[in-house]
Parts: sequence; structure tokens; C-alpha cells
Amino acid sequence: MKIRFWGVRGSLPTPGPDTARYGGNTTCIQVIRDSGPLIIIDAGTGIRVLGDQLMKTARPPFDIKLLVTHTHWDHIHGFPFFTPIYTPGSKVEVMGIGPLREGKSFEQVMRDQMTYSYFPVENTMLDNVVSYQDFNRKFSDGVEKSFELCEGVKVTLKLTNHPVYCIAYRIEADGKSFIFTGDHEPWAKTTTEDRPGDTRELFRIMNHRMVEFCRGADLIAIDTTYTQAEYESADKPHLSKRGWGHSYFEFNIGLAKQAGVKRMAFTHHDPTRTDDALDRLMSESYLPQGKKEAPDTEFFAAREGMEIDL
Ligand SMILES: [Zn+2]
Ligand SMILES: [Zn+2]
Repeated sequence: MKIRFWGVRGSLPTPGPDTARYGGNTTCIQVIRDSGPLIIIDAGTGIRVLGDQLMKTARPPFDIKLLVTHTHWDHIHGFPFFTPIYTPGSKVEVMGIGPLREGKSFEQVMRDQMTYSYFPVENTMLDNVVSYQDFNRKFSDGVEKSFELCEGVKVTLKLTNHPVYCIAYRIEADGKSFIFTGDHEPWAKTTTEDRPGDTRELFRIMNHRMVEFCRGADLIAIDTTYTQAEYESADKPHLSKRGWGHSYFEFNIGLAKQAGVKRMAFTHHDPTRTDDALDRLMSESYLPQGKKEAPDTEFFAAREGMEIDL
């Protein structure tokens, strides 16, 4: 199993010379195997480039399983530009979870971005190619679920801590394991107000469950939007990122250690983070910190076009 990053940027695309090395496309990851359907996680703008490459190098019809972590724009807005969905005879199965609080299904949100107000091509063009599966029912008892995505590929789902329902995926195939968290914030108190159920014990249990989910993974690609200082913004509390649904380097290094992860790719880079700034953070702070605190884990910053052999 190999993993290829087609988009590593968080929140919105960032074209331009300052982000050209790590890349400006939003989240898209391909899980590459020798046989079976094409497996993709998330449909940020990186999926357009993947689609263009498929049209050049592979012969349609395509058999594609697209796992979507959640419906925020940066994880779905490349989908209408993914050329394989317009190739007759292809099969594109799109799986994810809807924003339950708004009472909309996953399919509804995906279809909404291809309506008259937003996009020139109508959904009906895709009807014979694209199908949707909603994972809502898999969480009916609040417990993580596993299922066989296709022959030889086991997928386990885990809800993360994010302002909209978001799923982390653990993919096990060919004796290896890969996890993508999607967007995820450590469980902690996010406001100064006391809310029912906000207890340290509950947060500890929830964070521990995430550690168990990540246990022993060969590679985990993890939302690392902020540094801890940016996240907390202690000197300017109004700029704190608490409650925005994203994690930071320091917390993730701790998670790698607790979960015994072999490799950790920091991804979902903040849109304001330039290549030079990210290089500096890695070389001066987080590679040394990772080596010290979790010496058995290899840490790196995910880069567009990067391919990792598990
Ligand atoms: Zn995101
Ligand atoms: Zn999000």
C-alpha cells in the first residue's frame, strides 16, 4: 500500500510562489494498491489534479471509492472538477457523513454544490456514475465501526472533534495501516463558560479513545493546522483558535508517542503558513521535539505530490 498526497492545505486553496513547494491545493489523499478499485480520501482541490492524471494514464471506465471526512468546503470543493465523474460507464461511490444538526443528508450537501447558484453542470449528468452512501447510521450507537470497503481492505470509522460531523478513517490492507484524521481538535474546554458534561474526565476519555484508534499505525496523516502558541494565543485571547476544530504540533507529537505510531505526516497546513515558515517550524522546533519526545516515530510535513510506501 502506498499513500500519495494530492492536496495538503487546510481551509482554502493557496496558490502563489510562497506556497509552491508544499502546495496550495486542499485535502486529497490517494491510497494506492496493486489491484482493486481506486481509493481516495477527500475531494479538496487536489482531486482535480488526480482526476486529470487518471484521464491521461488510466483507461475509463473507472471504479472509484471516495471516502469523505466531512462536508466543509475544503474537503469537497474539488469534487465538481473531478473529471472521472463525467466518464460514462464509470462507477464512483462517494461515502461520508452529513451535517446532522441541519437535518441534511450527506448526499444532499454533496449535490447542493452542483446546483444552479454555484455550478454550471447539473447533478443529473452524474446520475449513472455517482452514488452516495451515508455513514450516519453506522454511528447509531455511538461506537466506531469497521467494514470491508472492497476485497482485502478494512476501514474503521471514528468520529472526531470538529464543528461539523467529521470522520477519521483507518485503512488496513496488505498488512499495513494508514490513518487520516480529517479535521480534528483535541477534546478540551473551549469556552470560559461551564457547560453540562464539560469535565476533565470526559475529555481524557475522548482523547484516550483517539489514541487507541491510532494505536500502532504505520502512517497517520493528521490535522496540524496550528502551533500551540497560535492555538492558545494567550496574549491576545480574542485570536484564540480554540473551538475552531483543529489541532497543533505539540499535541500531535504527544499522540504519536502514546499511540506508538511509526510515521506521522503533519498536514492541513494553515493557509497563512508559507513554505519557508513551515520549513523553519519543522527544522527548528518540531523535528527536534519529535525526536526527543517520541524517538520511535518519524515526523514530516506532508507535501503535495509526496508518495509514501508503507
Ligand atoms: Zn479542513
Ligand atoms: Zn473542517
